Amino acid sequence: MVDPTLFLPAAFELAGHRCPATPLGVRAGAAAMNHLGVARSEDRSLYALLELGDEHWAGCFADAIQTVTGCTAGKGNFRRLGYGKLALTLVDTTTGRAVRVAVRAEVLLELKRSAFFQQYRRQGVPASQVPSEVAEPVIERVLSAPDEILLSVSEVFASDLAQAPEDCRSFVCDRCGEVVAEAHGRVAGTRQVCIPCQEALLRQDGRTSAA
Ligand SMILES: [Zn+2]
Ligand SMILES: [Zn+2]
Repeated sequence: MVDPTLFLPAAFELAGHRCPATPLGVRAGAAAMNHLGVARSEDRSLYALLELGDEHWAGCFADAIQTVTGCTAGKGNFRRLGYGKLALTLVDTTTGRAVRVAVRAEVLLELKRSAFFQQYRRQGVPASQVPSEVAEPVIERVLSAPDEILLSVSEVFASDLAQAPEDCRSFVCDRCGEVVAEAHGRVAGTRQVCIPCQEALLRQDGRTSAA
């Protein structure tokens, strides 16, 4: 069993401040892992589909999911679906088993009624500027609530999401001399170049032909 509290310090560290979205994320991530019976993804055995989009007030939910599951933006086994929901689907790509975990509406509605949200976050105060006597009780409330109150967890279902193999191939750009992953290479005339160099060459050509 994954203990979400073990991942809290690292998740707060990654997020950069203490807010209730982080404990919600570690709890949701750990619940998904415990339902699948899987350990943290050292490589890319797990894949997380996060439903939250960008610029959301609870964006730290995403940082916490990455911290606890090991599905990270860097390794590429983490994708945002942009549905604007505090929910994730976690896929064990080795077995094809998946589970969806969502934060319950009542939990989020209560959070939005709190002083933390009404008097600070909604007024545009960054989470790091919210006094700790306001933030800590809501964090504690999330941490002390049982999973059933906090989260709704789907049945385990089958997913055909397969992990693409890592690509180790690369080349040296003919224009800037930097190393570029093969899949991102472009051809400009007889030269193999990177995307910015291809764009620069196209702009150059445009100017030459306009002149
Ligand atoms: Zn936050
Ligand atoms: Zn280049």
